[in-house]
Amino acid sequence: MRLIMIGPPGAGKGTQAARLGDRLGVPHISTGDLFRAHLKENTELGQQAKRYVESGGLVPDELTEAMVWDRLGRDDAKNGYVLDGFPRNLAQARSFERRLNETRTALSRAVYLRVPESELMRRLTGRWWCPECHATYHLASPAASKVCENCQTGLIQREDDRPETVKRRLRVYFEETAPLVDYYRDRGMVLEIDGGAPVDVVSRKLGQQLAEGGSR
Ligand code: AMP
Repeated sequence: MRLIMIGPPGAGKGTQAARLGDRLGVPHISTGDLFRAHLKENTELGQQAKRYVESGGLVPDELTEAMVWDRLGRDDAKNGYVLDGFPRNLAQARSFERRLNETRTALSRAVYLRVPESELMRRLTGRWWCPECHATYHLASPAASKVCENCQTGLIQREDDRPETVKRRLRVYFEETAPLVDYYRDRGMVLEIDGGAPVDVVSRKLGQQLAEGGSR
């Protein structure tokens, strides 16, 4: 199955995409994680992307698309993937469609996680992240234990989860990414899920609805 995840920052795309990838036996490919790895390793792409990622803006399409095509071309993505964070605007969606046609493949579904805006700010500014295994946590109190339950690594807060940057990321989402819901709706591909429900409920509904819709 080839899936893309659409939803505002903080909607739970990363968590749900990782679970779906495990369940379907396909890689979870997060463009945000790919960029963060490039930044950490200080690659040429990392240096070019740094100022956009850190300020909450979008990295230019050309750089992003080259990175995504490279990742999708690897062996483990031959039979499917769960793509999280791409496409992020209409230009990327159109390039992606051309690319899929060229490679004679098609997307199965565009999963849209819908979450009220008021909830997103709360979730994002309390979000902590494991730099080792990429698990995310919501900690209401900064005094709470900040060690990853899976691998005991110390949790960190993403630079771009600071309140000012979060506001910008939400603005970028509503201006640039939200129109993708209609783009994929016009193509009859959207599977809309209430992302405001507890994580396990969202996973279960998502699994059920994908199964009901078949794996076209
Ligand atoms: P995320 O983890 O998905 O919130 O992504 C973190 C940051 O990576 C975003 O704020 C952007 O700066 C950059 N990024 C991720 N995906 C894309 C994309 N498809 N196009 C442009 N920039 C992206």
